[in-house]
Amino acid sequence: MPFAGTGKIWMNGSLVDWADAKIHVASHVIHYGSGVFEGARCYATPKGSACFRLDTHVERLLNSAKIYRMDTPHTRATLEDAILDTIRANEFKACYIRPIIYRGYDTLGVNPFPCPVDVAIMLWQWGKYLGDAALEQGVDAKVSSWTRASANSFPSLAKSSANYANSGLIKMEAIADGYAEGIALDSSGYISEGSGENVFLIRNNTIYTPPVSAAILPGITRDSVITLAHDMGYTVREEMLPREMLYVSDEVFFVGTAVEVTPVRSVDKRQVGNGRRGPITEAVQRAFFDVINGEVPDTHGWLTYVYPAEAALREPASAVGAKTR
Ligand code: PMP
Repeated sequence: MPFAGTGKIWMNGSLVDWADAKIHVASHVIHYGSGVFEGARCYATPKGSACFRLDTHVERLLNSAKIYRMDTPHTRATLEDAILDTIRANEFKACYIRPIIYRGYDTLGVNPFPCPVDVAIMLWQWGKYLGDAALEQGVDAKVSSWTRASANSFPSLAKSSANYANSGLIKMEAIADGYAEGIALDSSGYISEGSGENVFLIRNNTIYTPPVSAAILPGITRDSVITLAHDMGYTVREEMLPREMLYVSDEVFFVGTAVEVTPVRSVDKRQVGNGRRGPITEAVQRAFFDVINGEVPDTHGWLTYVYPAEAALREPASAVGAKTR
């Protein structure tokens, strides 16, 4: 079934109908992958709709644009407001949020500079990325034969459309081989990340995840999980990890805006732990879901409430650090 969105899309400052949000086939981004984007989520919490770490997502978006020399007149504040306005215009309670900054229509030389820097914000309803069952039972993954780009080829700190050509190869290979997801190594052979998510592993009660230098996208869920794990008293080590650590770990899990926190039950047909969600994965998952579902006080100030009227109903005690714009 083709992707069917509804409602309004924000394009360069105007709200247009989903069906009319079109760009020309000669746009630079289509040919040369000259776009940078974000994926964030808005959750329906008992205290109203709230975006998770909206400010951090917009900051990463603007950093991605800076890396790719894309100047935009939009500031962090105007983009945050534009996202919130678009959610309100669509009257969504919960949604996936996809802002994209891209090189539009002018010339088709490789040089991106002559092409305008356009901005769009799309929203749609998106359920569990790897399926509902995956959150409890875990998924089967394989180490991909495709590696992440070397540090001096594509900047992994930028969430650029071009990087997703690599992600697509990783994902397609995994699916064609009967797995839910692929885990890429970096160009030196150390564990990097999944096609669209970061990876964590647990051995002897210590939590490990590859560092930013392992060609990963510095995930906002990854950062949140590290913070929550510290809050719970776990040791988290960001270090280069050889591939075989995946085979001898007690637990492995993926994290990302789309997958949230999803256990991995096997890697390359080797069972991880007892083949089911492990206890630390479950604890981290619960802590994460409690925050995004608004079930615990927002002590880190990660939620931005969308509808001011709902935000006003928040009890003061649970509003620690919460924001509205
Ligand atoms: N790595 C890649 C390649 C991704 O596409 C994503 C999803 N944006 C992540 C990691 C996780 O990042 P985040 O937690 O910010 O969604």
